[in-house]
Amino acid sequence: MRNNGEEQIAHLIMKLRGQGLRSSKVLSAIEKIPRDIFIEKALKNHAWENVTLPIGGGQTISQPYIVGLMTTLLDLYGNEIVLEIGTGSGYQASILSVLCRRVYTIERIEMLHQFSNNKFKELGLTNITTKHGNGSDGWPEVAPFDRIILTCAINEIPKILFHQLKVGGILVGPEILDNKNQVLNKYIQIEKNKFEKEKIEDVKFVPML
Ligand code: SAH
Repeated sequence: MRNNGEEQIAHLIMKLRGQGLRSSKVLSAIEKIPRDIFIEKALKNHAWENVTLPIGGGQTISQPYIVGLMTTLLDLYGNEIVLEIGTGSGYQASILSVLCRRVYTIERIEMLHQFSNNKFKELGLTNITTKHGNGSDGWPEVAPFDRIILTCAINEIPKILFHQLKVGGILVGPEILDNKNQVLNKYIQIEKNKFEKEKIEDVKFVPML
């Protein structure tokens, strides 16, 4: 799987470090999960570049920097139950799966749901549970979660998602501002219904539908 890709991988990791990603756990997860298997044939030679790429259904796989940044912000120690909204290709979920106990991930496009399931099987990642459907209501049957990650942008994070987050839990996701720009925010629920909100940086995600 690797052979001639090793140099490209090393180059990407160096680049991510240069952009300020310093968590060695997160960087080694990025090194370990082969991004090329999530990318269509014609674009495979770009798999290890720090770019957003199409994954079908009009959707995109985020650039490694954003995946690394969001993963770092989730502050994972290994024992967490994480909810992801917007499985897409399954790449972000795969990165999470090597850093936490279990990932629950929801995708509204059937084709991508199937695609990601196949990837998880191929990679032998058995701690990811998937669902085809609308993620805006979260996953009440398995809540509460230690962490929630949104990989699609929304005007306002639905209250119900915060209700499904444990006290001490972290939610990371992009929010759409009035002028259509987006900002990545990190929330920590410091006590029940009380949040610390930190604005991280401007981002560009597909919208939650
Ligand atoms: N995390 C993905 C990238 C996600 S792109 C990866 O690593 O590849 C955002 C995804 O969110 C798209 O696949 C889109 O179909 C999905 N999405 C948008 N609105 C949604 C909703 N309401 N519920 C579930 N998934 C949604």
